[in-house]
Amino acid sequence: MSSASLSPILKQATPVVVESASGSWIHGIDGRDYLDFTTGIGVTSTGHCHPDVVAAAQAQCAKIIHAQYTTVMHQPLLELTERLGDHLPDGIDSVFYANSGSEAVEASVRLARMATGRQYIVTVQRGFHGRTVAAASLTTAGTKFSAGFGPLMSGVATTPFPDALRLRMSVDEAVAYALAEFDFLLATRVHPSEVAAVLVEPFLGDGGYLAVPPAFLAGLAERARAHGALMILDEVQAGVGRTGKFWGHQHTDGLVPDILITAKGIASGFPISAIAAPEEIMAKAWPGSQGGTYGGNAVAAAAGVATLGVIEREGLVENSRVRGEQLLAGLRADLAGVPEICDIRATGLMAAVEFGDPTASAGGPDSVEAARLAGMVQQSCIDEDLLTLTCGPTGSIVRIIPPLVVTADEI
Ligand code: PLP
Repeated sequence: MSSASLSPILKQATPVVVESASGSWIHGIDGRDYLDFTTGIGVTSTGHCHPDVVAAAQAQCAKIIHAQYTTVMHQPLLELTERLGDHLPDGIDSVFYANSGSEAVEASVRLARMATGRQYIVTVQRGFHGRTVAAASLTTAGTKFSAGFGPLMSGVATTPFPDALRLRMSVDEAVAYALAEFDFLLATRVHPSEVAAVLVEPFLGDGGYLAVPPAFLAGLAERARAHGALMILDEVQAGVGRTGKFWGHQHTDGLVPDILITAKGIASGFPISAIAAPEEIMAKAWPGSQGGTYGGNAVAAAAGVATLGVIEREGLVENSRVRGEQLLAGLRADLAGVPEICDIRATGLMAAVEFGDPTASAGGPDSVEAARLAGMVQQSCIDEDLLTLTCGPTGSIVRIIPPLVVTADEI
């Protein structure tokens, strides 16, 4: 008989082994209670094991667990589509489901290529769009996400992010610079008639827990439309209330995507993702080109319906906004003047503390030293029973991701 152990990658995870979890808390088998400000990387939006979500999933298990959706449709997916429709931007009226963020990103790329007959996807530097080979090809949040397993997908071009901190510019200057770079890309390297879509997160997730300036998003959307390309917004991490509005792009006035991608917080931990688009775009998908065996699973969809119900009934989008302001004020008050910290930010419950000195030639925001400090702080938090994550190009940013149900005391 052979024996098995976890892959070395999984052995690197935190030493916390969970016994059970509820709300904002993880109860470890070591008897300790951890305040979980990771939420499974922004997933358990209604907290761990919200009673309504548990009840909906349990009830659904007793009815039907799986019915492949291109063969037999089921009620939870119809209901989820209706509930999601209440939150989708005007004109975005058609929804297709997958299991994970990466699969939904790939579905959006396939759709954009089929709908336009063009090949290129332009992404923004420091974007994170997933780990499947195609999604990794679109990801520039860090080299670790694509090193060692190329060649990657072709037909991808990347344009700079208006990173005011690293560019040492005002936000307006950084936006003007980044939009000029985008124009330059389309004037010199990729012909506009070959661009199927511009793909961007409204808030950087793994790339830094950082708002993408609204003027940049608006400028990209305007340029995409002018060139006949689609605007794809990856709301996998920023959507479903995380930023204090239901969608991250709602922080940019008048911005409407052609394709919107959602996952993570939509079902409180059950694996389900979706792309949404106007039906005339969605109808351009070749039959058989989209979907998979488990896409839009019935139990996950029922959990999604329950999640949206909880978010609406308990006013969790507003809670995200208010608790986020409290968190930001507290972080700023407690950490003011710490020389190793260059930025403290939060929009809703998407909060980050960034290490490094942007004016230093060594020890800057992406330096080894800054990453070491962020890792040390994360470990110290675990020692104090608080779970956080790091992110950014080298891991020099501590990100704080409470559930949307977090209370004032817990903050
Ligand atoms: N897009 C964004 C913005 C994400 O944050 C993530 C995951 O963190 C993904 C896509 C990929 O999602 P998944 O890990 O479910 O494949």
